[in-house]
Amino acid sequence: MQGVAPVPSYVVMQPTTLCNLDCVYCYLPFRAVDRRMPVAVAEAVAAAVGPWAATGRFSVVWHGGEPLAAGREHLAALMAPFGPQVEHHVQTNATLIDDAWCAFFVEHGMRVSVSVDGPRERNGDRVTRAGQPAYDRIVRGVAALRRHGLPFSALAVVSRPAPGYATDLYDYFLDLGCDVLGVNIEETEGVNTRGNAHDAATVTAFWAELVAAWRRAPRIHLREVEWSLRYAAAVLDGAADDLLPRQLDPIPTIGHDGSVTVLSPELAGFTHPRYGDFSSGNVLATPLAEILAGAAGTPWVGEFLAGVEACRSSCPYFGFCGGGHAANRYFELGRFDGTETEHCRNSKIRLLEGVLEHARDHESPAA
Ligand code: SF4
Repeated sequence: MQGVAPVPSYVVMQPTTLCNLDCVYCYLPFRAVDRRMPVAVAEAVAAAVGPWAATGRFSVVWHGGEPLAAGREHLAALMAPFGPQVEHHVQTNATLIDDAWCAFFVEHGMRVSVSVDGPRERNGDRVTRAGQPAYDRIVRGVAALRRHGLPFSALAVVSRPAPGYATDLYDYFLDLGCDVLGVNIEETEGVNTRGNAHDAATVTAFWAELVAAWRRAPRIHLREVEWSLRYAAAVLDGAADDLLPRQLDPIPTIGHDGSVTVLSPELAGFTHPRYGDFSSGNVLATPLAEILAGAAGTPWVGEFLAGVEACRSSCPYFGFCGGGHAANRYFELGRFDGTETEHCRNSKIRLLEGVLEHARDHESPAA
């Protein structure tokens, strides 16, 4: 894997900066203000996406803020320029989902991913702007999805990863009815400065227990565990070198104003005296394909690519991880060319160790 690919497999769109919630661990800097994406931005992105989507599967991910806070009319206007071959996804806190939104999802073929952190007592950080728990509103939204028979994914932030909790967490999502689950250990990034250092053995045991829970009832695609198992199988087959893509997916995030931030959506909206605003251009001034073709020349991106090479030459987990995320390096280390972060320890190294620990604990005795 070397450099940044000129064509992404998906784009992330920010229809509004606003979020109706105020979660304690949120990284978004402008979530209290409603800066909406003009339709001209969506038209410019759609012009670039058309040829990419014509040659294979292509997704547009609507992310915020809270994307549903943009309203159905505006979101429909932003989606309209994209051709029918594009798959639309939305990442939502679910609190605004009702029958009318479900009809919208059906009409637009939109795939929904819900942010919910597990059982009620684990959602204490998910609060309204008035500081009230958002949990009841989240489950009301999920109930609407289920009433309409809409499949959905779930994304859970785990702030205190420890054994004894992973089984409850997995069982909760089995009951919730999602078909895909992503588990993110809370990250120190953006305006969230809470620490994310945890005891290594505890985090490893959390992942090992999650693998065990999943293996008992593998009815949900458990993103992190399935990645790890695919990697472990490739290592055993001697095919691990083929697993990483040849180049990094640029994953362009299109900000509400048309600015393009590659590789890490979490950098959008921040500025730094040396790196500027982290953007690689603006689709209102330059075609997206042209911006991506030159993205490796963005000063911080060059530094990040040097960090990826440092990972490649120093880290035994590189074949699984591919060098980690730019935003975690920046917000934890203050630069892009470092290597290990607490995030990669929690979510890559200890994840893989947890899968191996589970395998060791459950291997059949030698004949
Ligand atoms: S696990 Fe951490 S140090 Fe290793 S390749 Fe990934 S980001 Fe780099």
